[in-house]
Order: sequence, then structure tokens, then C-alpha cells
Amino acid sequence: MSSAPEFLHPVDPSNGEALAPVACTPPEQLTAIVAAARRAQSTWAEMPFTKRCARLRAFATALRGEASEGLAQQVSREMGKPLRDARAEVRGVASRVESFIERAELAVADEVGVEGGIKVTVRWRPLGVVAVIGPWNYPVATPNNLIMSALLTGNAAVFKPSEFTPHTGALLHGLLAPHLPAGLLGLVQGTGQVGAALVAGAVDMIAFTGSITTGQAIMREAANGMKRLVLELGGKDPMIVLPGADLEAAAQHAAIEATRNAGQVCVAVERILVHQDIAEAFSQRVAEIVRGLRVGDPRDEATQIGPMANARQRELVLGQLARARAAGARFLVEGEARGPGFYLSPSVVVGVTPAMDLASQETFGPVIAIQVARDAEEAVARANDTIYGLGASVWGPPGPETEAIADQLQVGMVGVNRGLSTAGGAPWVGWKMSGFGYTRSVTGMRQFMQPQSRAVRA
Ligand code: NAD
Repeated sequence: MSSAPEFLHPVDPSNGEALAPVACTPPEQLTAIVAAARRAQSTWAEMPFTKRCARLRAFATALRGEASEGLAQQVSREMGKPLRDARAEVRGVASRVESFIERAELAVADEVGVEGGIKVTVRWRPLGVVAVIGPWNYPVATPNNLIMSALLTGNAAVFKPSEFTPHTGALLHGLLAPHLPAGLLGLVQGTGQVGAALVAGAVDMIAFTGSITTGQAIMREAANGMKRLVLELGGKDPMIVLPGADLEAAAQHAAIEATRNAGQVCVAVERILVHQDIAEAFSQRVAEIVRGLRVGDPRDEATQIGPMANARQRELVLGQLARARAAGARFLVEGEARGPGFYLSPSVVVGVTPAMDLASQETFGPVIAIQVARDAEEAVARANDTIYGLGASVWGPPGPETEAIADQLQVGMVGVNRGLSTAGGAPWVGWKMSGFGYTRSVTGMRQFMQPQSRAVRA
């Protein structure tokens, strides 16, 4: 293995210019940060739950105040997200803190039962120190989900942001840590090597959002200490469109949800499976909408699609597109790569077949890839013929028939005539290789705790 770099060199994806370098955390400092988190954890766990919540509410308030604009600007500068979407990400996080607090109250509550003269209490106890490792695509929202789950359930956390978004990670940490006991939320910076050292360190759990490959590496390492895991991984979400659907609504959903955040969304529409009878009309309408999307400088308020976050990701997408073309796919809209920066305008590709890696591997870019299915049965079979199982949507006539198709999909989250949603406290969860463990919801929070049953003779 090559030696770990001493500095990260993040880049502004809108112009390719270097941002300030960030020092990587050396191994001895990482050990000290984890040890400090462990020392602070007992104070935190002993603090009454309502006080813990008050601290986190203060963080949510801070996110709604003056600091919010600075954080949104940083997200936009470091990963190219249009500023208006970056603001929405930060605002969304402030609201989500409140919804985490609501679920946590139920999650941490003891359960008591009496049976055969024995009083059994199930207590939900914190695990200790949780390593939180994040990706770059939602550099505030994704780690926040994991950090809130860890802290509200009485754990300490040590956060490693993506090497592509270290400044955003440091800002997020700087907004939250002052509301907590000293050391409770540690921050380490670096590439995957620092992530690996954190996983191998004296932590009790790893809460990770990122790629399947990294998730597998973490799982292998975690086996040594039987460390608890929540892994939120990649997706290849199918969207099934059937006759009788509101075609305009479906076309809008396809165009917007495949290109939001330049397609760099774990639950982006990655595969469209449209019934042969409506395929032509649907594809043409999607192309028309996509032609009207504004690609440009993320700081421009009118921009809908900014640059891709980094050169590596753009190369991956361009490679998939080139191979699909060589295998016979046609472009209704041709995506163009341009610089400076990592711009790639959206593509609408038809004639996609399951054998193309555009149809089988996560793309994570602004691409609408359309396959034609003979009937609903074939669409479902293709939707399920994958290692992924994160999200999906089914578009058809409103009613039980369309819902029955949703029931056949092997995914963690599915929308019917809309995108997926976690309204009402539903979990954020993947099936198959898209995830292991999950967050949000009461049961999601309980994955950050150890149940302990205590039997007392009544
Ligand atoms: P990545 O796996 O390359 O990196 C994620 C993080 O893991 C980074 O902080 C990286 O430094 C760290 N890392 C790398 N190797 C490591 C190792 N051996 N041990 C510990 N940490 C290590 O992913 P990425 O490119 O940053 O993010 C994009 C991926 O994230 C996509 O696949 C996307 O679908 C997925 N994602 C999933 C969700 C979800 O909720 N399921 C949400 C957002 C993103």
C-alpha cells in the first residue's frame, strides 16, 4: 500500500482551481481523538435524554441561522452542487435533526414486561464510539444522519469526511461540536487510508455511507472485532413506467431525478424500464424536458445542474456512455463534457440493453438510460436482476395493480407514482448489496444500541 498523503488537495469542480489544502490526521493523533471520544461518551450517556436533545436542537438552530449560508457556499464550492440545492441540503438537515429527536425518544425507551412472575426489562444501551465515514455527494446530509443516530442514542462519534469535501466536513463539525461535551464528536481528515485506520481503531461501530467496494472492505475489517455496522451503499434504482401512468408526471420525474446533483445521488433514477406501447412518446418527452435544463455555474441562481464533483467520476460516466454507444445505444440528447472544471451536460440514451454496464453498474452521473420492456413482468424481472436494491419507483394507473408491482421489487424503498419517501418515520434502507443495517426510524436508531434484557423475580 502506498504511504498515506500528508495533505488533501480539494478542488473547486466548477473551475478546477485548487482550494486550501487540508492536513491529514496522523495515526497517533487519530488514536488520541478516538480515546477522547470514549472518555466523553460516559458523561454524555449519563446526561438526561432531554438535555442531550436540547444540545442537538441548539445545533439545528445554528444551522438555520447565519452559519447556514457559509456551509451551503462551502458545499457548492467543494463539490459543485448548485447553490440553491446546497441551501436546501443544509435546511433539510436542520429539519431532520428534529425528526431524529422524535424517533430517538421511542428508541431509547426501556420496554418492560411481566411473565410467569418475572419482570423483564429490555434496556437499549449505547455501544460506545461510532466511526462515521461519509461520501462527497451530500457531504452534510449523509454524515448528519449517521452522527445524529449515534449521538441521540448516547454514543460518541468520530467523523471522517470524504477526501473530496474536507472543508465542508470541518465546517459541519465546527457547528456541532461546541454544543457537545469536549471530545465527544471527533474529526479526522484523510483518504481511505485514514478511514481504514479508523475502522481498525478502538471503535465499537462503523456507520458508513459510500460505495459497495468500500463497504465490503469495512465489513471485512470489522469482522476482527465483531464491530457493529450500518452500511448505506450504492444503488441502480429502476423506474418502471406502464401504460395508464400520468406520462407527463413520469417524464418530469425521470428528467429531474436522474440529473439532480448532476446525477450523483444514491437514489437517482438510474434505469428506466418503459413499456413498449408508450416508450416512444415517453422518451421524446423526457428528451424535450432535458433539453430545457440549465447547466452552468453552481453559484448562478438559475443553474439546475452544476459540474460533476470530480474528474474521476466524470471519466467513469463518459466511459459507460462510450461503451453503450459502441454497443448500439442511441442518444436523443448528447451530453457534452466541457471545462474548465468537470462539467458534463445530461444525456438521454435509448436502446439501452441489460448487457451494457450503463444498465448494470452504478453510473452516478447525469444520464437518463431508457430500456424498453415488453410488459410489466419483463420490467420487474429486469428491475430485480441486479446486485443493487436501494430504491425504485413504479408509474402506472393509480390503484392496487400498480402497488402490487411495487411489492414485487427487491428494494428497500419504493415510490408509487412518485419518488420514494421516508415520510412518517420510515427507514432509509437498502436491500441486497445496497446496504447492511439502516438509519432513520425507531428501529434504525436502535442499530446504534445494544439491547440488554434484565430479569427480576417479581
Ligand atoms: P467511497 O466508498 O469511495 O468513499 C466513501 C468514504 O469512504 C470516503 O470518506 C473514503 O475516504 C472512505 N474510505 C475509502 N476506503 C476506505 C476504507 N478501506 N476504509 C474506510 N473508509 C474508506 O464513496 P464515494 O465515492 O465518496 O461516494 C459515492 C458512493 O456513495 C456511491 O456509490 C453512492 O451511491 C453512495 N451513497 C450511498 C448513499 C446511501 O444512503 N445509500 C448515500 C450517498 C452516497
